[in-house]
Amino acid sequence: MRVIFHIDMDAYFATCHKAINSQIRSKPVVVVHKNVSSAIITAVCYEARKYKIKVGMSLYHAKNLCPNLIVETAIHSLYVNFSVKIFELLSQKYTSKIVIASIDEFFLDVTTIIGRNRSVKYLAQKIQQDIWNKFQISNSIGISYNPFLAKTATDLKKPMGISIITPQNLSKTINTLPIAKICSVGKVSQEKLKQINIYTVDDFLNFENQKLLIRTLGKNNFNSLILKLTGKSGDQLIYTNNFVKSISKETSDIVNPLEFNELINVIHHLTNDIYLKMKNRRLKTKGISIMFRTEQKKITRQATLDNYSNNYQELLALAINLFNKNWEGDKAIQILGVSFYHLEYEYNTFEQLTIDNYQKNKIISQTDQLINQINKKYKKNVLYKGIDFLESKPLNSIDIQDKFILFKK
Ligand SMILES: [Mg+2]
Repeated sequence: MRVIFHIDMDAYFATCHKAINSQIRSKPVVVVHKNVSSAIITAVCYEARKYKIKVGMSLYHAKNLCPNLIVETAIHSLYVNFSVKIFELLSQKYTSKIVIASIDEFFLDVTTIIGRNRSVKYLAQKIQQDIWNKFQISNSIGISYNPFLAKTATDLKKPMGISIITPQNLSKTINTLPIAKICSVGKVSQEKLKQINIYTVDDFLNFENQKLLIRTLGKNNFNSLILKLTGKSGDQLIYTNNFVKSISKETSDIVNPLEFNELINVIHHLTNDIYLKMKNRRLKTKGISIMFRTEQKKITRQATLDNYSNNYQELLALAINLFNKNWEGDKAIQILGVSFYHLEYEYNTFEQLTIDNYQKNKIISQTDQLINQINKKYKKNVLYKGIDFLESKPLNSIDIQDKFILFKK
């Protein structure tokens, strides 16, 4: 039987700020994009949750609930840097069978390590402590025999929790959970389920509800959820070490499919996700495409860059621009996707210095040249510079929205 770990950082963005500032570690902390009282909170640490502060609440409201609240402004590069470092720790010290699920979540297949090592729980404690000791990032680990159940297990106990779902305790553990807590049920489906009075996993598995559920969710969705909830889904993990030609992500979880701001936000999240996967693999892209499906048709549009890029700002702006130019505005979007499709390792993308591009690039330092020669020789990224971790801060979604809403009108 496989042993899958799902490692999820606790209140990640807030925790990153605590990691670099020990003075706020035990304090209630929230993160916003801009420190103004109308700002919407994007992350809440566990101390602040005790005051009933939630993601999505206005800062004004939160400060009323907790006058001593510590407010941090989002620093995207900080979150990416910790994520890359945690990935490197896990992949170098524990297993190369690792998948990046999002900026603060990883799946590890530890089946073979367990075989020749100690107990499952011991290994989880060791990894959890290791991340804490090295980065002061608190994290929780879910353990099970497939990725879906491992992810479900993580949410059972947070922060600094370790939970295990086995075939023996599966139904006892998850049947009373609210269906909304189950990880692959999106907002749209949650709403539909609420309307037909399906609240818990038990309700979902009740045979009497089967026909209604199939009518509401569609047969395919229903079947795949049933397999998952009964521990029979065989989700494969696709490992990051293999060279990939493209990285893409799409979603159908769009609550207001005609709302421009929301669609832009969805693009922001999708781009952020695939950007991170690209960055963690030390790749750059030369092509970006956007796909959306309305009831009438599916549209795919792509753009090619002059040079390979891993500049988040540039890629996000391109994605938004492609969407903005091609969506007619009155057709509801059912599925939206972004992909980077022309990828190459960073060390293979350095331009040769010529008279023509000399002015543009000014100078590629001797260090850069040396690093690239070495990486090229070993055909993998054995070396990179510390400064790669100190990139400029990418535009956040609110900045982007402001710009493009003006542009749209
Ligand atoms: Mg998390």
